[in-house]
Amino acid sequence: MGLLFVNMPKNRACNGLVSLFPYDRNAMAILPILTAPDKRLKQKSLPVEKVDDTIRTLMDDMLETMYAANGIGLAAPQVGVLKQVIVVDIGDEQAKQMHTPLRLANPKIVRMEGMLPWREGCLSVPDQVAEVVRSAVIEIRALDQYNQPLHLEATELLAVCLQHEIDHLHGTLFIDHLSALKRSIILQKLKKKAAEEKEK
Ligand SMILES: [Zn+2]
Repeated sequence: MGLLFVNMPKNRACNGLVSLFPYDRNAMAILPILTAPDKRLKQKSLPVEKVDDTIRTLMDDMLETMYAANGIGLAAPQVGVLKQVIVVDIGDEQAKQMHTPLRLANPKIVRMEGMLPWREGCLSVPDQVAEVVRSAVIEIRALDQYNQPLHLEATELLAVCLQHEIDHLHGTLFIDHLSALKRSIILQKLKKKAAEEKEK
């Protein structure tokens, strides 16, 4: 069981960073990413019984999908799979020396401390950013890609990203943390954009 402690610089949006971590490109697939207000994004995901080859393939495909979209985190419901699986790669030099990219099943926050406002974005809420107040320090228990228990503590961008992705597993988007007015403005923009794209 490893303990990870990561400190990240502030003022980096929680999306839009590209990371090139070594992985086997040949075996992977890019999956379509659902966008709000798709109802599947509001559903709760089920825990994984065991991290087997099927789940490992899902994790790899999610990473491929995330890198292709220049994201730094992705949750299984975003690709229409209602399982408690997330992947995160914040692409930081310090994080690269640790266990990143993170492939986690059944992640649970077991401790949270402090408050940290951060401007967040989401691949399922394209081109929109807003400030969300998250916990500054979190401790997580999960299963890794080898079905082994993993225990990690995170701060800064990694903490924000993990909270954002774990929210997805409970059907919560970052816009759900905003006021009803702000949320409806963002959803209107997304609907308008989707309608325009249909007309093309
Ligand atoms: Zn997201």
